[in-house]
Amino acid sequence: MSLPNAPQAPSDSRSDAAPEFTPRTLAAQAMGRIEPGTRAVVMPLHVSTTFIRDPDNGYSSGYSYARPDNATVREAESILAMLEGAEAGALLFGSGMAAATAVFGALEPGDHVVAGTVMYWALKRWLREEAPRRGLTLTFVDTADLDALRAAVAPGRTRLVWIETPGNPLWTVTDIAAAAEIAHAAGARLAVDSTAASPVHTRPLERGADIVMHSATKILNGHSDVVAGVLAGARADAFWDRIRGIRAGSGGILGPFEAYLLMRSLRTLHLRAAAQSAGALRLAERLSGNPLVTHVLYPGLPDDPGHAIARRQMRDGFGFMLSIRVAGGEAGAIATAARVQLWKRATSLGGVESLIEHRASVEGPGSPCPPDLLRLSTGIEDTEELYGDLDQALRSAHGG
Ligand SMILES: *Cc1c(COP(=O)(O)O)cnc(C)c1O
Repeated sequence: MSLPNAPQAPSDSRSDAAPEFTPRTLAAQAMGRIEPGTRAVVMPLHVSTTFIRDPDNGYSSGYSYARPDNATVREAESILAMLEGAEAGALLFGSGMAAATAVFGALEPGDHVVAGTVMYWALKRWLREEAPRRGLTLTFVDTADLDALRAAVAPGRTRLVWIETPGNPLWTVTDIAAAAEIAHAAGARLAVDSTAASPVHTRPLERGADIVMHSATKILNGHSDVVAGVLAGARADAFWDRIRGIRAGSGGILGPFEAYLLMRSLRTLHLRAAAQSAGALRLAERLSGNPLVTHVLYPGLPDDPGHAIARRQMRDGFGFMLSIRVAGGEAGAIATAARVQLWKRATSLGGVESLIEHRASVEGPGSPCPPDLLRLSTGIEDTEELYGDLDQALRSAHGG
């Protein structure tokens, strides 16, 4: 991908000997870009929908109209591509669902798709409804079980394996490198919904994935005020071009103001992810000792079934999401959620404020989510205060 406003090292004089910087450093400085006209350290927000043609009828700036492309969106994309180590670059969409569905849209009628039984509920529902109408065949399988995954792919017919790790809302861990091997051996691509991991903890492309997807609504933006989605690609091949064409043709690009807010958030992504993950681990440990909690689902706990793989493919923490199963079944869970005072009872995840949700109510019948499960998105508040609030809600809900 050629960027007219190419990412720079944090210096405005580039040379072959320019030092390499870590993703954390590059993100903190939004790639170190300086606006040439004013020398500003924050780039202006580009809102123009159209661009002047050259006298020779060309578009030497690389921009013609704002539906296929926008300079502010490209700046945010270059940071996301850097964070994921994506050679093909990144593409921002108006939501996570728009990003995910563009990948399935790039398949051909007759293609077979394998996806995880534990995955984002709205995307699973969309796949069930839309895949047959598009001539796609679908197999859902527990992707954490590699033998089951191997048995589900059909060599020559399966074109896409879609995994989510950790998988919402049970936080099951799928081995990305092994899934990539299985997909590639069958002639399929591997796409990873890495929303719950963030590029701070996991870089799926380094482990062999072909495409990474995030709901940027979640921890990438992190402030519960932008809906956005992103794809990052390992290779600028024909499939990637088709996805880019789908975004341009269907008008799925993110708006420039949202891209600007997202970029502002990405400067602090590493701080937020570290704090939220550390909080989630501490909460998981404290909740494991609570007599009213029957199960804590979190890959950071040593006895979690996904812990060994998570240690291999996650770094600097195990993410900000965990779930608990509580005493008293569905009624116990709903009564607990009703009694929190500090946690916010709301859907979504990844923001700096902690959210609690009775997930089975959202997912409805056919979901793998047990009725006694509460999904917890850990923010940046004081962890002991967060634990204390859950503990009082649990005790009060159970007549204590
Ligand atoms: C929220 C979410 C999505 C969908 O993203 P939107 O931005 O809400 O469209 C997809 N996958 C996961 C894991 C999510 O949490």
